[in-house]
Parts: sequence; structure tokens; C-alpha cells
Amino acid sequence: MHKYAQGVYENLEKEMPWQKEFLQSVFEVFESLRPLLNSDTKYEKYRILERITVPERIIMFQVPWVDDKGEIQVNRGYRVQFNSAIGPYKGGLRFHPSVNLSILKFLGFEQIFKNSLTTLPMGGGKGGSNFDPKGKSDIEIMHFCQSFMRELQNHIGPDTDVPAGDIGVGGREIGYLFGMYKKIVNAHQSVLTGKSLNFGGSLIRPEATGYGNVYFAIEMLKTRREDFDNRNVMISGSGNVAQYTAEKIISEGGKVITMSDSGGTILCKDGLTHETLEFIMDLKNVKRGRISEVADKVSNVEYVAGQKPWQLAEASVALPSATQNELDLEDARELVKNGCICVSEGANMPTTPDAVEYLIKNNVLFGPGKAANAGGVATSGLEMSQNAMRLGWEAEKVDNKLREIMCNVHTASKETAEEFGIKDNYVLGANIAGFRKVADAMIDLGV
Ligand code: NDP
Repeated sequence: MHKYAQGVYENLEKEMPWQKEFLQSVFEVFESLRPLLNSDTKYEKYRILERITVPERIIMFQVPWVDDKGEIQVNRGYRVQFNSAIGPYKGGLRFHPSVNLSILKFLGFEQIFKNSLTTLPMGGGKGGSNFDPKGKSDIEIMHFCQSFMRELQNHIGPDTDVPAGDIGVGGREIGYLFGMYKKIVNAHQSVLTGKSLNFGGSLIRPEATGYGNVYFAIEMLKTRREDFDNRNVMISGSGNVAQYTAEKIISEGGKVITMSDSGGTILCKDGLTHETLEFIMDLKNVKRGRISEVADKVSNVEYVAGQKPWQLAEASVALPSATQNELDLEDARELVKNGCICVSEGANMPTTPDAVEYLIKNNVLFGPGKAANAGGVATSGLEMSQNAMRLGWEAEKVDNKLREIMCNVHTASKETAEEFGIKDNYVLGANIAGFRKVADAMIDLGV
């Protein structure tokens, strides 16, 4: 790591040793910046690393709500407004019991560079709550979302901060949040993305993160004259990102042999069919069931309780699409041993740092989340554009734009690494390309 970055990192570590996920994401970015900091001293002169690692603002609030038994519940709400140098804060809301400030700061920090890579004018932010949507009724979800928005609405706006979904926040939650916002401010503004088509959403937004990751992986594979045709692909998760990743892989001729949730993994050695995937989508999105139920209903699918996908079978490609740090060094070793040639991150930071290093050293094409899963926020940016024009584009137009953006993110990540004499390192390229634009904007804007 460059000496300047090392000093800033050590201070952060001293100041907040408990913010493990945040420190992990800062470490990874700082390590990549070494060639850039060696070649240009202006970032140190303008104290960019000290400034870019402190959120411009953090809002923390209580979210009281009444459950179906009439009892009062209280959760914590957060919005981390990290960096607005290149546009309004933009990033999802996560509702999950594990949510804390460290996780939201890591996600917000990553978002700054991801949004920059899309080339759209969006700053970085992230928010959420330790609320657990699992097992709650629709009415409880609505009461929670309304209470969350009662406070959040003071801090967001179409030119200030535009949240979207993430783990535990899908179309249903966005609807309840937007409904409350609209009631309070008496305006139908583009203040959330991931909205339903009925009130200002964009076609292809639900598909965008999963499709985008596949488009990114296709570009990586092309550099080695490879493709998905007839290849075994392992996917983790069975939520929004995993579902549309699976859909696109199947239509590209690949075989999706795993999906999972926090309880375990389903394994289908023949590859999931479109029909089975439709069943999974209905099970997860409508019935709110568990992935284990697929094995009860579909004959060639087995369920492995308590296991992640990575060590269960041989696959050419792994697409982690559930959560952070879900693919570790042992998993990476097994993937390489079983012939894996490409890992592309649908989730944010799903691969541990030692696993990333091992994969890259072993010549596996590795797409880091801030590049590979940028399609979701990019299409959120396109939703904002359509809202501003009061127009709705056709699916094909949005999909074409998404594909073009993912190709550009791939090229920028690859060529930026090559500019510094390093080949096949998308981590380094994405970090430098994402950072440089934001840092230069911060310098232009003054202190
Ligand atoms: P969903 O809530 O739709 O799905 C999350 C999936 O991951 C579920 O299958 C869930 O299983 C599983 N999961 C969550 N936490 C854990 C855990 N601790 N251990 C094991 N499995 C877990 O979320 P998304 O699909 O939207 O998000 C998935 C990932 O993609 C996240 O990292 C998110 O930050 C990232 N991402 C999402 C974008 C989007 O547009 N939605 C954009 C860019 C990145 P269970 O149901 O059992 O909890």
C-alpha cells in the first residue's frame, strides 16, 4: 500500500476498529490505488483519502411501529450520505437484522466508486434498518416502511438523495415507502428508484443487476475466447439479483446448477429449466417461501442444508449473489481445483480478500462487485432520467443501454489497469477508474 494511504488507513483502524466491513472495503480500495498515488501527488496534497473515507453526513433515527398483536416495536434506521461530488447521493436501502453502521458504511463507500464507473451523475449513499422482514405480514411491512419514511423524508429529494432497494427491500417495500413519501410532501417526485411500473418505475430495473453481471462476465470471458454455452454456473442467493442472473444465464445457454438462501443450497446437476426458475420466483417473491421447498416439488433438484454452493460441484463460473464475505479462501481453492475460470460478483463484497487474491493469482477472471453489479444502479439512473422527462422507455431500449454501460464499465476497468502496466486485474482497474473521477471532481469543487 502507498505510504500516504497506509497512514490514513491506520488512523481509521485506530479510530473505529469495530467497523470491520468498512475497514475491509477501504483496505481493498487503498491497496489498488498504489500506482495512481505513485504517479500523482495531488491526491495527497488535497487530502482526498482523509476526505473520501468520512461520510458527508450520517443520519440515524428510531423507527417505532405497531405489530399485528398491537405491540410497539422499535428498530434503528440509518442513511449514510457518503459522497455527492458527482451527483445526488444514490444507493439502496437494506432491511436485515445484521444491519449496522459498519455494513452501511462499507456499502456506501463501495457505492461511490460503482456509481462513478457507470459514468452517470450519481454520488454514493446507502441506508437501511436492522428490521427483519422475514415472517412479517404485509401490514407489518407497511407499518414499518411508513414509519421509516416519516423520518427519512426529511433528508432525501430528487436532487439530494435518491434511495433504492437492496437486501430485504424489493418492489413491495419501495411501494409502501414511496406511498408515504408522496403523502407527506404532496408531490410525485423521483425520490426512489426500483418503483413499480404502475407509478413511475422503469422496465428492466428488476432484471438489471443480474443481467448486468452476466453482461460483464460475458465481456470478461470474451477476452479468452470463452462463453457461457453449456457451462456449469453456480449462483448463490435466490433473491432479486440471483433470480435474474439465473434467467440470463439460462438464455445464454449456460447451466445453472445451484441457487441458495441463508438456510442452504439447491443443487441441480442437469441445470435449472425456465419452468423451475419461474417456480422459484413465485416461491420467493409471492409466497415468501424457502429454497428448500424446490427440492420437494422438482424431481432432479436436491437440497443441501446449511451449505453454500461453492464446494458442492464442478463449475466453470461462480456468481456470488447473496451477501458479503460468502466466498472464502477455502471455497476459492475448491473452485480452482474444480476448473472454475471466472468469478463475477453480483453481491457486494461477497469474496473475502484472501480469496480474491488467490483467484487472481490462479488466473481466474475476477469481476469485482463495484464493476460487475453496477447494472442495478445504472438502470436506476436511467429510471431517474425517464422520470425527469416524464417518459417510459421500451424494455429493449433500456436493456440495450444497460448492456452498453456494462461493456463500458468492463472496458474502463480493463484499460485502466493496463494503463498502469497490469493485465487482467479488474479489481485494480475498477478501483482506480472509479476513484479518479470522484477525486478529481472533489479537487475541482474546492474544500
Ligand atoms: P434479496 O433480499 O432479494 O435477496 C438476498 C438473498 O441473499 C436471499 O436469497 C437471502 O437469503 C440471501 N442472504 C441474505 N443474507 C444472507 C446471509 N447472511 N447468508 C446467506 N444468505 C443470505 O437481495 P438482493 O438480491 O437485492 O441483493 C443481493 C446482493 O446483491 C446484496 O449483496 C446486495 O447488496 C447486492 N446488490 C443488489 C442490487 C439490487 O439491485 N438489488 C444492486 C447491486 C448489488 P434469505 O432469504 O434466507 O435471507
